[in-house]
Parts: sequence; structure tokens; C-alpha cells
Amino acid sequence: MDLYDFKLDFVAKWINEKNGKSVAIQMPEGLKIYSQFIADELEKRTNATMFIIADACYGACDIAKDFSEFADVLVHFGHTEIPIMANNDRIFFVEISADVKYQSHLVELLPKLGNRIGLITTIPFLEELEKIKKWLEENGKQVFIGRRKGRAKYDGQVLGCDISAAKDISELVDEFLFIGNGDFHPLAVSIETKKKVIIFDPITQQIRDLADLPERVLRQRHAAISKASTAKKFLILVSTKVGQNRLHLATHLRKEAIDHNRKADLVVMNEFNPDLLIPFEADAYVSTACPRLAIDDFLRYPKPILTPVEFEIAIGIKRWRDYHLDFL
Ligand code: SF4
Repeated sequence: MDLYDFKLDFVAKWINEKNGKSVAIQMPEGLKIYSQFIADELEKRTNATMFIIADACYGACDIAKDFSEFADVLVHFGHTEIPIMANNDRIFFVEISADVKYQSHLVELLPKLGNRIGLITTIPFLEELEKIKKWLEENGKQVFIGRRKGRAKYDGQVLGCDISAAKDISELVDEFLFIGNGDFHPLAVSIETKKKVIIFDPITQQIRDLADLPERVLRQRHAAISKASTAKKFLILVSTKVGQNRLHLATHLRKEAIDHNRKADLVVMNEFNPDLLIPFEADAYVSTACPRLAIDDFLRYPKPILTPVEFEIAIGIKRWRDYHLDFL
């Protein structure tokens, strides 16, 4: 529990103010190991009964919209709300923070960094961003933090489906420094801005770069598009998750397919699972849900799975030179 601050006093105060007698607790997979501790602590501080949601949760796009069937309020840990989505005053987003030990690593990083640096991060490390900026500036660097737009809540924050904060400062910086863990966010920034991204992972305390990952991913995407370009039948996949549903886009893509002499069926799912697609005839899939699905999970699918723009390249509406990643 030492690594993360779950702001439990603050959460308990909110539950009591809402007069919540039953509370649904929702967390991403990486935090679920803390859920029983959190439930115990919140029960001690409130008069409420806690229900831990076991279903997978990938982001604030994936709120347990049926929570009111068993709880008065929902407490969602680990993601910020998506500003463009409708608010619900029975849902509380807990912006957890991580205790980051970075000083000695920044000293090690300093000679490896260019002069103009863009700082980007994800929510657990956001509180440290201004401190890291100040330290780098005191040590002679020009540091930029991009403005939020769209689905991110804070300046400097990037999501797998929104890297506006990086694009905002891309022209001003030599490279990006990503404070966080995982490859997807820095990969998206690297492919879209064509700038080098250095990763400082406060959990593993490692400094690394993406090496040839962006080139490998682009090669794989090119191969998937080529394979799908001969497809006669597509399945266009739509998610029912509240923040991933792009039904209008899906129907538009279907029309494009038909206009280009391809067959396309719309298939709706909550949790994307290749096994659910077995009964259907198709040569390729198009995911209109979280942009990460086609990129991170392609190996799980027996047929090529494309993003919307990749689909348009495959059927000849766009060219490979128009390629960009999918964002919501
Ligand atoms: S759509 Fe994907 S990347 Fe965006 S918040 Fe949801 S899970 Fe994260």
C-alpha cells in the first residue's frame, strides 16, 4: 500500500456525504490486488457495505453502468473521468497518486536528454510533473507540458485514446520524457509525433526507450492492412462500453464497405473476445472500440483486425501515407 495513495479519507467523506449505504468499488486489473484492503478500510470509515466489481475494467470509458442494481454509489479508482462524457453525481473517480522516487534517476537521465523536453504522464504520476519540470529547468533544460484537450482531464496527461497533450507541444520539443509504465502511451506519441520518447518507469525504476518498437508495430500494421485489402467480408465490431461506443462511425464504415463492393456486418459486444466471433463468416475485422484493441491484441484474433483508418486504407479510400493511429 506504500506505493499508492488511494485518498481513502477523502473517499469515505464523499460516501458519507452521499449517504451511500452500499458502495460498488471498481478498479483496473493492476490495482485489484488492493481492492480488499480498500473495501476493509472504507467499511471502517463509513456505515456502508462494499461490493468489489471483479469484471475487467480498462479505463474511465468502461464504467460499470449497471452499478445501481446493487449499490447506491460507485467509486472508481485509478482513472480520471473523461470530461466529454456525461457526469453522474453518484460516481466518484479517485485520482490515486504514486510515491515516486525520481531524483537520482533524473540525475542519470540528464546527460541523455536534449535541450527541449516535452513531459507527459498518466494519472498516478501527475502530481510529480510540475516538480520534475522545475528540477529539469533548474538544470538547464527547456521543459514543456502540453495542454489537455478531448478525453484527458489534465495538462500533460495522455491516454491510450488521446495524446493531445503531446501533440500540443510536439513542434516545440526535441523529445518526450514519459513518466509512467507500459509501452502503449509512449508508442502512440512516438508514432504520431515522430519524436523520440524516453520512458522513466517509477514502478520498476527503469529508464529506457522504445528501441525499434514503433517500426515493428508499423510493419505489423502494414501487413495486416495488406492482408485485409483482399477481404470480401468484414465484421465491424462495436463496443457497448459507455466510453467506447462509436455506433455512428461503425455504420459509416459499413456504408463505405458496401460502396466499395465489400460485405460488412455490424457486430456488437461488451468485452471483445475472439471466441465470440467464431460463428461468423468474415475475412477481417474492424474495431471501432478502444484503439488499443487492434494494436495490442491482434495476435489473439485469427483474422486481421484493423482500426477505422486502417480499414479505409485497406479498401482504397485512403493511402498508406495517410496512416495515423486511431484516437477517440
Ligand atoms: S478507450 Fe481505451 S485507451 Fe481510452 S480510456 Fe478507454 S481503455 Fe483507455
